[in-house]
Amino acid sequence: MAAYLLLRSLLAPIVQAVVAVLTASQTPRQEAAQAPLPHSGELKKDPVCGTFVAAELAVQGKFKGEIVHFCSAKCRDEYARRT
Ligand SMILES: [Zn+2]
Repeated sequence: MAAYLLLRSLLAPIVQAVVAVLTASQTPRQEAAQAPLPHSGELKKDPVCGTFVAAELAVQGKFKGEIVHFCSAKCRDEYARRT
């Protein structure tokens, strides 16, 4: 019993140090790197500002018989002005 207590008091700081090292090395770094993607639907590129927007969230405009997707009405108006 005395040997067990001695062993435990010797091991405890070592275990704590190992746990501290393991926890410190597990810093979150992947989460911020990945841009949030919409759960479904495809991405369309706004031809004005270059932003990728989900098709279902995009502002749509019809130009020369083609549907063009924009991030905002402002970009759509800009595109309409240029075309
Ligand atoms: Zn835009």
